[in-house]
This record gives sequence, C-alpha cells and structure tokens, in this order.
Amino acid sequence: MQYATQPTASHYVNGEYLEDTAGDEIAVIYPATGERIATVHAATPKVIEAAIAAAERAQAQWAATSPRERGRVLTRAAQIMRERNHALSVLETYDTGKPLQETLVADATSGSDALEYFGGIANGLTGEHIPLGEDWVYTVREPLGVCVGIGAWNYPTQIACWKAAPALACGNAMVFKPSETTPLSALKVAEILTEAGAPAGLFNVVQGMGEVGGALVSDPRVAKVSLTGSVPTGRKVYASAASQMKHVTMELGGKSPLVIFDDADLDSAVSGAINANFYSSGQVCSNGTRVFVQKGIKEAFLARLAERLKGAVMGDPLDEATNFGPMVSQRQMEIVQGYIAKGKDEGARLVAGGNRIERDGFWLEPTVFADVTDDMTIAREEIFGPVLSVLDFDTEEEAIARANATEYGLAAGVFTRDISRAHRVVAQFHAGSCFINSYNDAPVEAPFGGVKASGVGRENSKAAIDHWSQLKSVYVRMGDCEAAF
Ligand code: NAD
Repeated sequence: MQYATQPTASHYVNGEYLEDTAGDEIAVIYPATGERIATVHAATPKVIEAAIAAAERAQAQWAATSPRERGRVLTRAAQIMRERNHALSVLETYDTGKPLQETLVADATSGSDALEYFGGIANGLTGEHIPLGEDWVYTVREPLGVCVGIGAWNYPTQIACWKAAPALACGNAMVFKPSETTPLSALKVAEILTEAGAPAGLFNVVQGMGEVGGALVSDPRVAKVSLTGSVPTGRKVYASAASQMKHVTMELGGKSPLVIFDDADLDSAVSGAINANFYSSGQVCSNGTRVFVQKGIKEAFLARLAERLKGAVMGDPLDEATNFGPMVSQRQMEIVQGYIAKGKDEGARLVAGGNRIERDGFWLEPTVFADVTDDMTIAREEIFGPVLSVLDFDTEEEAIARANATEYGLAAGVFTRDISRAHRVVAQFHAGSCFINSYNDAPVEAPFGGVKASGVGRENSKAAIDHWSQLKSVYVRMGDCEAAF
C-alpha cells in the first residue's frame, strides 16, 4: 500500500503483529478503483490458539487491575485515536471506499467516543448492597472472561471499538475478527490500545473468513460472542454459542421504515430520507429503506428528493468534496444491481439512478423507486446499498401496521410536526432504535440494537454493561446458621 499507516502483518496477537503465511490469502481491494492494496492471510489454527491463549492470560491480569486504571487506559486510547484521526480516516477509506468526508467524522471519532465513554464509567461499575434486616446481600459485577467480537465490513473501526470499549471496561479480554472484506482498520485499534497501556493479549485481531469466526465461537475458553453481521450468520453464530450456553450480542440486519406525514417539514424530511438511505452509499444496517410517504406530500417529496440527489458528488473518496462513495466490493455491487433489476421487473417506478457508473471500482448511482408495494422484493429484503423505496399511505394506523410487517426490527423513524403523533407512532414501532424528525443518529450515550430478527442485546450506553459483565450475589448471614436437623 502506498501510505504510511499500513499495518505491517495480518494479525495482532499478544501485543504485537503476527504473520503466518500458511493461512489462505485474502486480497484487500480498494473499492474506489478495484486495485489490490494489500494482502492478509487467514488465521491458521496456530494463530487462533495463540490469540485465545494470550487473551486468557491478559484477562486474568486485567481483571485484577483497578477499574480506575482500566478506565485510564481506554481514555488514553481514545485520545491517541482522536489525535490520529486523519491517518485513521484515510485507512478506513482505503478499507471501505467510504469518502474521507464521512470517515473523518464517523469512524475513528465514533470509536474514540466509545473508548472515552466506557473509560469514563469503568470505575463506576459497582455492585449493590441489599439490606434484609439483620442479614444482607451484596452483588459484585464480574467480567465474563475471554470474549469474541466478529465484525461486518461497513464500519470496521467503529465496530471494533463499540465491542472492545465496554468489554475491556468490564474487565474482559477480546479476540476480534474483522470482516474479510475490510481487515485493516481493526489492527490499528489493537496497536493504539497497546500504546495506551493495555497488557499484551488484551485485544487481539485475527483475520479470516466465516470458518475462523466459527472456530473462535466454538472454543470452550470463550465466554461471550458479539457479532455484527447478517441475520443468516447471526442464526449460525447464536446456535453455536447456545450449544455451550455462551452469552451473545447479535447486531444484525434490518429493513427499517421511515414514515413521513404530510404535515412534516418537506426539506427536513427529505434530508432524513437521504441520511436514512445514502450515507455510506446505503451500507448501513439501521437504514430506513422503506420510506412511507403520506399521499398528500408524495409528489412534492419525490420532486424535492430528485433535486437534492443532484448534490451527490461521486469522485475520488480521498477528495473531501466527494460525498458519495462506491460499494464495498464487486460482490456487494452485483447483489445491489440484482435488487435494482428486481425492482424494475416487479413494477416499481424508477425515479432516480439505477445504473452502474462507468469507471473502475464498484460504483452505483443513488437510486430511488416510487410506487413500491409491500409485497415487492425490494420492500421485503435487506439490500444494503443505495436503493430508497417510496411507499404511499393514507392513514396513521395503516402506516404503523405496514411499517411493522417485517421480520426485522432494528430501527424506525417518523417525520411530523405533530408532537403527540410523533410519540404515539414511535410507541407502536417494533424497533430498537427510533428517530423523531431525524434518522440514523447513533451517539455512544444511546443504547443501540434491534428487536425481532434484527438482534439480541444492546451496544453502547450504560445498557451495554449488562451484556459484558455478570452479577455475583453474596448472601451474608450475621447470626448463626440453623438447619432442620
Ligand atoms: P456477514 O453476516 O456476511 O458477515 C459478518 C461477519 O461474520 C464477517 O466477519 C464474517 O466473516 C463472519 N462470519 C460469517 N460466517 C460466520 C460463521 N459461520 N461463524 C462465525 N463468523 C462468521 O455480514 P456482512 O456482509 O459482513 O455485513 C453486512 C450485514 O451486517 C448486513 O446484514 C447488515 O445489516 C449487518 N450489519 C448490522 C449492524 C448492526 O449493528 N445491527 C451493523 C453493520 C452491519
């Protein structure tokens, strides 16, 4: 690779880079040009063993470290990450193809927010005293042990930090496997944690495809698995973890609704729909891809949206003027092209985009379909690309019923000027993350995660602590212990 921040080997184990060229080659492709920019090797059984053994050793030491010191390490890592934001953002852009305009504000920054937040609350993670008259119970919040994180390819730095920060704050160690499509950024997170003072082995990164993930999940020394990925992968990983009664967090896919009432501020609603569909070229799990627009505002909405799409700048992602990047891979581009073809075949009206851009790399235009009905494939399946579907509706009740008629439940949004309606609608959404007159905000202070097939557990916020620790309760008898005989 042509720039200074390139990681020096495939894996990061026991506080240093580790290579084992016996593992299968994984080509790292820059999505904006299709060029190979690096090669990593999948972890061999030897590398997996070294990572889990290192994590086990580090965890014992880390759990015995004072929570204040643990927090200090995370806070220091947050600071280093923020100081290196530019270089890390360039790396993230090479890894994913997302424009630098986005990565400068959404990736290492969001990762450092998580490290800072969980670093800040590490020493506040206390138990309870429960009085029972003369006797009493106290609780101790304990770590789970060695945890495994498995990432998707859309936010490689953020996903690594959203899992590592609360896990480490609670006294766990982690072995993290990035997506094989974007293997580079998590290595930098590992490097920074070491530099910030984390003991060797506390956060390890191993590369590989699903089978490396599978080997990590089934290892009996692993206490918990946190996956960010698709629903089919989630089912497999959850089942494997369940067979050994492991803890899980599942951050999976979605087909989220965005409901726009005709009293909404038009420009604000159009901005919401753009943020809900075209950020990261549509490769966001919580995207509001089913945009229900009340009939009275529909034509005005479509006209304004088409106008605003002219502002999409598709150029060199490293040029900060570019605001719309390529698909992450040839495969993802072809999947999305398949959905665009299905949308046309099944009778949706293409009102914008729909084409591949004729240049190297994996570029698709931002695409809008109108007159989409609930039974069409593009309204039912997660596309994970820049395809916005507009569905018409008449009444509030109808919109809510149709919004909820999906196996998914990750996110949902509503645009209206009627404050009572906004809360009434949100109260009825079957979704983990909801937005009123906004879309896709994900501050670390707010719990993030889905209901129904979209997942189990929550990331971020104080809620994450419950998913990365367990409570021991201790009954203390003050008098003599009596028995029946
Ligand atoms: P994916 O399910 O194909 O892969 C996710 C990860 O799981 C990869 O690292 C992959 O190597 C690994 N994996 C695959 N099979 C495995 C197995 N049998 N055992 C263990 N690990 C295995 O998903 P993707 O294509 O990388 O990402 C896109 C999907 O992720 C979309 O469905 C999207 O909605 C979802 N996603 C969810 C969130 C969220 O927070 N809810 C965030 C980003 C992406």
